Amino acid sequence: MNIYADNAATTKMSRTAIDTMLPYLDRIYGNPSSLHSFGQRAAEALLSARHSVAEALECSAKEITFTSGGSESDNQAILSAAAVGARNNKKHIISSAIEHHAVLHTLDKLKKQGFEVTLLDAHKNGIVRPGELEAAIRPDTALVTVMYANNEIGTVQPISELGKICREKGVIFHTDAVQAVGHLKINVAEENIDMLSLSAHKFHGPKGIGVLYAKKGIPLTSLIEGGAQESGKRAGTENLPAIMGMAAALKEAVSKIDENTSRLTALRDRLISGILEIPHTVLNGDPLNRLPGNVNVCFEGIEGESLLLLLDSKGICASSGSACTSGSLDPSHVLLAIGRPHEIAHGSLRLSLSEENTEEEIDYIISAVKETVTYLRNMSPIWKDLQEDKKSYVIQ
Ligand SMILES: *Cc1c(COP(=O)(O)O)cnc(C)c1O
Repeated sequence: MNIYADNAATTKMSRTAIDTMLPYLDRIYGNPSSLHSFGQRAAEALLSARHSVAEALECSAKEITFTSGGSESDNQAILSAAAVGARNNKKHIISSAIEHHAVLHTLDKLKKQGFEVTLLDAHKNGIVRPGELEAAIRPDTALVTVMYANNEIGTVQPISELGKICREKGVIFHTDAVQAVGHLKINVAEENIDMLSLSAHKFHGPKGIGVLYAKKGIPLTSLIEGGAQESGKRAGTENLPAIMGMAAALKEAVSKIDENTSRLTALRDRLISGILEIPHTVLNGDPLNRLPGNVNVCFEGIEGESLLLLLDSKGICASSGSACTSGSLDPSHVLLAIGRPHEIAHGSLRLSLSEENTEEEIDYIISAVKETVTYLRNMSPIWKDLQEDKKSYVIQ
């Protein structure tokens, strides 16, 4: 068995995306800014990709800026809104405690420049409360940035309600929708989203390419100076092969959302109920308001890293949290934010599925996890203390 269950970290490229890219790596290599026929051919392709992405988000092509991925889009969205705010003496930003580091680290940078940041509580179920956002908005609030769906625990936020509040209060609303685009139905206009970040490699497109949607009238500050590409909002020759692959992958993902959601939800729930048969195990995040492919659990008395390595030796690729924090010994800021104590947050496991996973694989994962958790607990001095009542269980 060789099972890939780490689709929140990255996905396998779809055949359609690869086939769409190939001619642009081979024959159609012109620079879209060149006036000759090679350039014009590339420029036409670029425009068609922009229209295709706009159609998937139900917005206008002029509102699409191609970036190098989710991190860049998050940085540019936040820094652009902060620049608008600073010009109007508004230096307060609202976000949530469970954002991706691309958001949190950008906010840290702004704090050093005199911005004040309020992080909304994600509560035990990993979901922010619209009433708390409403109460946090001040006359000097320049931006609200709340992710669409969380990359670790999969919780889906009430985006249209949050967007409505921001619209009514006249505050710019950005959402990091990297985990949601291509997996959940999104309509930026209906959900009152002013800015949205997406990344192709999370929906079977290529790595290193993404989009920042910015509603007409929201000025973007360029992070990269140079040529006038992307209407002056992002300098540098466009990565046309990747842009074409992204547009194709997005169109394909959006067309399959209904089909994939029902398939994945069934696989996810089968996996969750199988794993929760293990005693002293708890699901992280809301059981219903979560991404169709996300499973995230904590086990009492287990070290997440050892579990991962043993699962890998059994052919299962999973994660203990986000790829960005693995390698560091700090437990996940998301698990701490939803109230998991340190010792439990260390014993976490994230399995993120794609439509390519099968029921047979799910059943194999369940038995491998059961076996491995038992094995690790039998070696653990903490588990021994728990069993002998020298310590009490955190997870009942
Ligand atoms: C993956 C991810 C990012 C970063 O996207 P890159 O394209 O890898 O830079 C940002 N936010 C979330 C929620 C993600 O899952």
